[in-house]
Amino acid sequence: MNLNGINQIQPKVMQTVKEVNKPSESSNVGNTPESPKKKAADSGCLKNYFLGSEAVNFGGHHCKTGNFAVKKLQDVPCCCCGKPMLRESDMNICKKAVASTSGERLTKTLQEYSKYMRADEKCIGTILAEEAKRTGCDVSQAMKHTSGNIRELTGQYANGILDELNTMATNAFKSENNPMTGIIANAKKDIEEGRGLDRSTFVEKLDKAAGRLGEEAQGLIQDTAMNLPQTFNHVQRIYDKYQNKSADEISRRLFSTALTTAEHIHPHSLGGPDNTANYIAECAGCNNPRGNMSYAEWLKVHPEYPRKAQEHIEHVQARLINGEIGKDYNDYPVDVRASLSKESGGRMVLKVLNPDTIEKMRQQKGLSGKVTVEDVKAAYEKQEAEKTQKSNS
Ligand SMILES: [Zn+2]
Repeated sequence: MNLNGINQIQPKVMQTVKEVNKPSESSNVGNTPESPKKKAADSGCLKNYFLGSEAVNFGGHHCKTGNFAVKKLQDVPCCCCGKPMLRESDMNICKKAVASTSGERLTKTLQEYSKYMRADEKCIGTILAEEAKRTGCDVSQAMKHTSGNIRELTGQYANGILDELNTMATNAFKSENNPMTGIIANAKKDIEEGRGLDRSTFVEKLDKAAGRLGEEAQGLIQDTAMNLPQTFNHVQRIYDKYQNKSADEISRRLFSTALTTAEHIHPHSLGGPDNTANYIAECAGCNNPRGNMSYAEWLKVHPEYPRKAQEHIEHVQARLINGEIGKDYNDYPVDVRASLSKESGGRMVLKVLNPDTIEKMRQQKGLSGKVTVEDVKAAYEKQEAEKTQKSNS
């Protein structure tokens, strides 16, 4: 959903908020700065995970997560949600821009930087943008004004996305009576009756129903559904913590989940090494909630992951070939493919370029200018065709 969605939020009459009992939205993905991540029991027995007979050979570098080269690039799409990520310095630019304006200029600034907000933050950013437009206030005043009826406003925002999903489903199935309609109607009923929405459960059901539509339509539906807030309680928790904070602190919170972090493919707490072959760049918003969850569990709540991981690695390879990452990372794509495949029990096998193909393309690119993601895809197809040819001859 784009920020046009703010038009769907019209808090004209600040009605007295219905006294609703806060429903128990049990969620696996609620770990954020507001709910510290659970530490798994130390599993020393798993420390040799990568050293068994099917060992992943770490050709990468042993380095601290802070030195992971992908973290140093701006606007890399997150490996999990696919949204562009921020470096600390760029986050400060977004933060300052939001904290220093008010009224319609604030609304525009929030819209401009909304691509750097993850689902919950985008919901809040949209609500704050509408309030700033309506009353001319700054971000901290907007939060105070809307804190009394945040559940209702979250409901309006979520309903806008559910309507969008309904239209997509009707078009895709060419009928209003389709397997997705009932699931969406139930979600709307839950919102109307004050129970809120648990995105994980909803997405899992919806994705099953959308599976019959084919990959492309299913992907669009996944992307739209992932814009829903994780849970209403989660949005509420951010409000509880930030409603009396300064414009600076609130603005920082809106973008902090877009920060680039190094995700340990095999969780660090389960013995996963500090090695580039065990790192993948993920935004803080995706990295924190995963904790020690296995990919089998994680893929249920993030069905878009394999698709986004492929897009992510294509992007990284293009920037690697273009020289934005040193050539000591040429083997990074094959290493990370091995780690992801092993960790996901073969569910995720990335299509990547071999180190020699990367090096060759890096040397040739002077003639053709910058290498794009499309070039990477074409090179991959060529590499696979040559492999088949070799094995046939
Ligand atoms: Zn992400």
